[in-house]
Amino acid sequence: MTKKDQTKELDKGIEKIITDIEKTPKNPESKNKKIQPIIKIININKEDREKTEIEALKGISVKKNENFSEWYTEVIQKNELADIRYNVKGFVVFQPWSVLCMEKMFGFLENALQRKGHKPYWFPTVIPEKNFKIESEHVKGFAPEVFWITEAGDDKLEEKLALRPTSETAFYQMWSLWIRSHKDLPFKTYQRANVFRYETKATRPFLRSREFHWIEAHCAHATKEDAMKQISEDMHTTKEVLHDIFGLPFIFFERPAWDKFAGAERTFAADVLNPDGRVVQQPSTHLLSQEFSKGFNVKFKDKDEKEKYVWITCYGPAVSRIMASIVSVHGDDKGIRFPFKIAPIQVVIVPIRNDPHILHKAEELKQSIQNIASVEIDKTEKSAGEKFNYWEMKGIPFRIDLGPRDIENKKLTIFRRDLDVKDVIDEKNILEYIKETSEQYDKNLIKEADKLFDSKIKDASNIHEIKKIIEAGSIARINFCSVAKDGASCAEIIEKQVGATIRGTKLEREEPFGSKKCAACGKLAKEVVYVARQY
Ligand SMILES: [Zn+2]
Repeated sequence: MTKKDQTKELDKGIEKIITDIEKTPKNPESKNKKIQPIIKIININKEDREKTEIEALKGISVKKNENFSEWYTEVIQKNELADIRYNVKGFVVFQPWSVLCMEKMFGFLENALQRKGHKPYWFPTVIPEKNFKIESEHVKGFAPEVFWITEAGDDKLEEKLALRPTSETAFYQMWSLWIRSHKDLPFKTYQRANVFRYETKATRPFLRSREFHWIEAHCAHATKEDAMKQISEDMHTTKEVLHDIFGLPFIFFERPAWDKFAGAERTFAADVLNPDGRVVQQPSTHLLSQEFSKGFNVKFKDKDEKEKYVWITCYGPAVSRIMASIVSVHGDDKGIRFPFKIAPIQVVIVPIRNDPHILHKAEELKQSIQNIASVEIDKTEKSAGEKFNYWEMKGIPFRIDLGPRDIENKKLTIFRRDLDVKDVIDEKNILEYIKETSEQYDKNLIKEADKLFDSKIKDASNIHEIKKIIEAGSIARINFCSVAKDGASCAEIIEKQVGATIRGTKLEREEPFGSKKCAACGKLAKEVVYVARQY
């Protein structure tokens, strides 16, 4: 079935759904009040879909460095990564071109976790209100963001149920049933889940929405030292996967006392820099306060026969949010550039004409390439030029432009999206070429991203200098008096005057430099911190 036929089939399907809805006997309670809007929305979408297709052919019209925000919106829409027209505010539909990539990201993250001894779970989406209230800081922090279920069918529920905004309070009550002895520790779990947060700030697809998709890993340990080792392991996992595979440079900061996860004793988070100079918080890992293990009664019998409370850590890479950084960090004026390992499709074959001879060859190539990479043939009716632009915008790593002369000479012309160049190779070497070049391709993206990131960190010694650095879209490194509660007033000064926040210290603390004075108050500095605007 060709794409055109599929579209026809789909349209037929939609028509059938509409007629079925219209045929549905109308009961006086719901009337057609609820039905009408559905039909309307489907009709709008159909027109919009054609419009989107025409727009997509034009490519990206905004330059990334001139107006990042508009560029981002266009890239998301034209590449059909997410559709924001879903009719519940703050919720979006994730579309195949992002889901295929995010599935691969989940794969790499879950693989790393399992390799390090985490076992997968699927916990219920709902959490009873009483669990939620056990740790007071946690409830205080999350209460304003929780969606509550209060009714089911005609019944009012005896106890409200939270749609999980995060699952500490679901996991730990079960741990109290499962963990008995020091032999059970470390107890390493994780789940892949969607979570719900009633965000009141403006939502943006992938960056901030009211439902997002993530992995949350929860671990119980016998000692605080073991818990800190886990934190370090989580940081390592982040480097292995986010940097070395996804190509995202970041700094792992320990957040200051006033900016910790609700219920944590210590919070560490990886900040990735967007081209507009704002940082996006990516995975964070937390040493939770022992209030959680005490509240949920998670105890174990230690080697000395004494009952002790476990030490808990949790780690949360938000895959749908990492997607935002993939788009932002690697994208260029033409559109997305996917790292090879997580590209939705890794190779596309573009027959420059749809004649049977070329299509036959394309099919033959596809059969061979699909043993080592995901591959598609573009059989649409678009012109060759339109196809080229389209796949460059879509960020596919390798495009094989297949014409009669190439076939005759047993050569292949391959366009690589990392360097925007064409390679001509002997047809028989295609598999080796993809294997070797894909490694180099990912390295190129990482090198480019690292170089830009490193050039964006600049030292400042006073508010004026911080402001200049932040306004130029960079991160400021400064001396700072204290990251304990007593430093909060200096953080406020910076936030008010510069519009940026203290992201925290590096895990390996740095020595204050230059005058060694706090950039806000001038007192002797104990810390070196980083200042940036955030999403
Ligand atoms: Zn200060």
